[in-house]
This record gives sequence, structure tokens and C-alpha cells, in this order.
Amino acid sequence: MNYNDNNIFAKILRGEIPCKKIYEDEFVLSFHDINPQKKIHALVIPKGKYTDLNDFSKNASMNEIAGFFKGIEIVSKKLGISTEGGKGYRALTNIGNDGGQEVPHLHFHLFGGEKIGKMVS
Ligand code: 5GP
Repeated sequence: MNYNDNNIFAKILRGEIPCKKIYEDEFVLSFHDINPQKKIHALVIPKGKYTDLNDFSKNASMNEIAGFFKGIEIVSKKLGISTEGGKGYRALTNIGNDGGQEVPHLHFHLFGGEKIGKMVS
């Protein structure tokens, strides 16, 4: 799938649509999901134009890949859900149609702040 510059997260990255920002650096932007499914529901997205995890793994640079996953760790600490604080959380990414992906810009959901429960329904 080609990257679509009009997807909602591309607009958030360009500052055209507001978000409740949690963290930003040169590799990632993190913000609260607009429709939280758990007490804490954050999204972490790369700054680069990647549609999903497969596209990212195949085409991103090693720096982008490292920066993205380090960003998730930083965000988990900022939200107080990291295992270092004795908590924990679920990181999840949907890929493509069967994966239930709605927004075609790679994003990881971070669910936490309570027991997350069953892995898939
Ligand atoms: P997906 O189904 O693609 O894995 O998840 C997309 C997520 O993006 C959903 O959880 C949805 O609530 C969230 N979302 C969609 N539009 C917006 C928006 O404009 N702002 C924020 N913060 N989240 C959004």
C-alpha cells in the first residue's frame, strides 16, 4: 500500500489537527488516543511515512527503527506504566485489513493503568 499523506496521523504530525501530546523527539510522536479503550491508551507513531509495521521493518533505517522502539520505552516511563515502576502495559499494532488497522500510518497502541485482560477477542 502506498503511503497516503491525507491520513489523520499525517495531519497530526503536520500540526493540522490537534492532539494531546505525551512525548516528541526526532523519531516519534506520542499522544493520547481520542477514543481510549483502557484507563491509559496512548499511541506512538514514527515521524517517517510508513503505513504499517511491515513497511517500517522493510524500509526504515536502523536509526529510525531504534529511535521508534526507544520512544515506546520513554513513553511508558512518562505514563508511569513501565515495568521499572512495577506496572506493565500492552503494546499492540494492527497491520492491514485482517489486522483491523484503520489509520494507515504505523502506530503502536499502549494500553495500561489497569489489568488489560484477554489478549484477543
Ligand atoms: P487502528 O485501528 O488503526 O489500529 O487504530 C487507530 C486509532 O486511532 C483508534 O484507536 C482511534 O481511536 C485513533 N484515532 C483516530 N482518529 C484519531 C484522532 O484524530 N486523534 C487521536 N488522538 N486518535 C485518533
